[in-house]
Amino acid sequence: MVLRLDGVVVRDAMVARIAAAAAVNKGPRVCLATVLVGDDGPSQIYVRNKHKLAETAGFDSRNVVLPASASQAQLDDCISDLAHDPGVHGILLQSPIPSELDFESAVSLVPVEKDVDGLTVASLGRLVRGLPGHASCTPLGVLRILQHYNIATSGKRAVVIGRSTLVGLPMAILLQRKGVDATVTIAHSRTQDLAQVCKQADILIAATGMPRMVNSSFVKDSAVVIDVGISRVDERIVGDVDYEAVSGIASAVTPMPGGTGPMTVGCLIENTWAAYLWQTQGHEPDIV
Ligand code: NDP
Repeated sequence: MVLRLDGVVVRDAMVARIAAAAAVNKGPRVCLATVLVGDDGPSQIYVRNKHKLAETAGFDSRNVVLPASASQAQLDDCISDLAHDPGVHGILLQSPIPSELDFESAVSLVPVEKDVDGLTVASLGRLVRGLPGHASCTPLGVLRILQHYNIATSGKRAVVIGRSTLVGLPMAILLQRKGVDATVTIAHSRTQDLAQVCKQADILIAATGMPRMVNSSFVKDSAVVIDVGISRVDERIVGDVDYEAVSGIASAVTPMPGGTGPMTVGCLIENTWAAYLWQTQGHEPDIV
């Protein structure tokens, strides 16, 4: 019987732990700030969900909304103001932003301590160097699922399909980190014999956006399969993994929805709490 790795359960346990710690905290209140540019519908929903979960954790949150017509200078000023505001501990610039604006340049203004999305060059550099900092929420969420279900990673073979700086690459870096200690392969659209490469994995993580690409031919007996991909097919959300097809072979699988998605938002809360402790008490974030 396959184990369903339930991201909602793990997220709720994680947020409850943080809420309990925040409730007895004597310092100033924790504050997460989001910046939303334009009126993209899904982005509005994502931001609302982030604020709801921040509230559940007992945090304050602010949402700064700029019009789609905002200039780069307006966006940069907004990020800089939040960066210099001691009452704000975490900053998240919601993507996508209008194509005329430069996301990289705006996000580079987020100081590393407040970079709760883990997307700045400084945060990624720290991750690569093994220095304290914030890891990107989706790969961190995958690591937390593995840890929650006591899935051994040390010495195990992990294959990550996808090499983006948002998901695949930081995922691979996290998995090989000392203390996690997996032996990691990164696969991508140019990988030859992809199914055979994936079939080597004790832990297979799919982050491509190719609906149900991972079928039974990709999965070794008793492997753990983590589905990060999100696609919309016939008005339904589907992942990279054909859950039914791999369930007979894998020992554990994340559902989509209900797996890695909730963990991404949960880890935003974890990173915001870590950011707060870093800025107010000098405790550096400890990812592993
Ligand atoms: P990107 O498009 O930036 O990267 C996709 C990666 O998948 C690329 O490295 C690409 O290879 C690889 N890829 C694409 N097609 C194939 C294929 N046929 N075979 C092997 N590799 C392939 O996407 P992101 O990394 O930003 O996101 C990945 C998925 O995760 C998306 O579906 C996204 O919606 C989802 N997502 C889910 C989140 C969650 O909370 N669950 C959060 C964030 C994203 P190459 O580099 O060669 O082009």
